[in-house]
Amino acid sequence: MINLETPRKFEFLVSQAHQVATEIFRTNSRKYDRDEHSYPKELDMLAAMIDGMNAGGALSGAGAGSVGEGNGTRTAREGHGKQPARDRDVNRNASNMASLLGLTELSWGDVGLLLTMPRQGLGQAAIAAVANEEQLKRFGGKWAAMAITEPEAGSDSAAIRTTATLDGDEYVLNGEKIFVTAGDRAELIVVWATLDHEQGRAAIKSFVVERDNPGLILERLEHKLGIRASDTADLRLDDCRIPKDNLLGSPEIERGRGFAGVMQTFDNTRPLVAGMAIGVARACLERTRELLSEAGVEIDYDLPPHAQVAAASEFIAMESDWEASRLLTMQAAWMADNKKPNSLQASMAKAKAGRTATDIALRCVALCGSIGYGEGELLEKWARDVKILDLFEGTQQIQLLIVARQLLGKTSAELK
Ligand SMILES: Cc1cc2nc3c(=O)[nH]c(=O)nc-3n(C[C@H](O)[C@H](O)[C@H](O)COP(=O)(O)OP(=O)(O)OC[C@H]3O[C@@H](n4cnc5c(N)ncnc54)[C@H](O)[C@@H]3O)c2cc1C
Repeated sequence: MINLETPRKFEFLVSQAHQVATEIFRTNSRKYDRDEHSYPKELDMLAAMIDGMNAGGALSGAGAGSVGEGNGTRTAREGHGKQPARDRDVNRNASNMASLLGLTELSWGDVGLLLTMPRQGLGQAAIAAVANEEQLKRFGGKWAAMAITEPEAGSDSAAIRTTATLDGDEYVLNGEKIFVTAGDRAELIVVWATLDHEQGRAAIKSFVVERDNPGLILERLEHKLGIRASDTADLRLDDCRIPKDNLLGSPEIERGRGFAGVMQTFDNTRPLVAGMAIGVARACLERTRELLSEAGVEIDYDLPPHAQVAAASEFIAMESDWEASRLLTMQAAWMADNKKPNSLQASMAKAKAGRTATDIALRCVALCGSIGYGEGELLEKWARDVKILDLFEGTQQIQLLIVARQLLGKTSAELK
């Protein structure tokens, strides 16, 4: 039986997140949408609360140790086989589920503000996935951005040109990183760079760079369609020197291992981004229900679709699509908490939730007509904000490609 209730141990977390979403995020939503690039100082007061959530494993390090190396991670094909004895009969909701529920609730408030919350950042998921104990102590709990994308390397991360060269006890990084969420505000930037172009994906590693490193230069901040509260930075690494202990995971280049290490990050972060989409879509549905009700359209679940007014019928169809996305996403997070390989489900969840939420947001604007399109409502803002959730951490098309590869048992070289 599928239990659809929020696990009791997370009820407090969700109600805290809901309070923040209502009292801080919603009340400042429009302000920072208009005032792009100004820092939402109201979020600083949240730092203490986030520290508390982190201590409880609720926010940072989603999946810390859950899907990391040596922690039950298996390939897609192995994943269909028998589970090792130690993994059997485990059924728990832990940090991945807590993160998912908390982030979904906060995104219901404002996803742009969520993405620029201090002590957060998708870089922490990378750290959680591959850092050693000493690095976890040094970097844990800090605001960490993630810098993968380059002018010539978006969906195809194997094309990364940024280099890391060992020089004594330091790595020297050189290259350009674009579209880095919180790239100027974060304390740490997790940078993907190659140790050796000739050796392909296996040579791509992640490196932690302190934001105040003089070799890490801000080139510009983007102006964007949505999530304007969240700054997006273009950064240049110019002979940027970091201690060699800031390489996350193993410095060895193991040919044939592909992206081993760095890619595990996505198994943690994709369900979270799907959760953000679910949060924004819920906000759209709730507000649309209210506006429809004010217009005299009530949704009656006891009536068959053909007996509903058209708007109510469309609303119910959106809700069921939303529910399917939510269940897929919860499954992906639950699998990570239970040390089951979840790459397939993480991509399925992100593809489904990203597409569904984008559709829902636009259809809600349409259902509410000019009211939905105007600045008097947040619906128009949510329709702009939500698009990014179907784009970063792997676009819709890339998620579908990953799903196809996994189902057909093909490698990335065999199915491009
Ligand atoms: C607001 C914002 C914040 C971001 N934050 C970060 C961040 O914090 N860190 C970071 O590293 N990056 C970040 N990104 C970058 C984001 O992850 C990339 O934009 C994304 O990976 C797509 O890369 P691209 O823009 O180069 O598009 P491209 O890879 O050039 O793709 C263009 C189009 O082609 C499609 N496509 C590409 N390859 C294939 C294929 N093989 N099969 C079918 N279709 C394909 C894509 O789906 C897309 O529709 C951010 C982007 C934005 C807009």
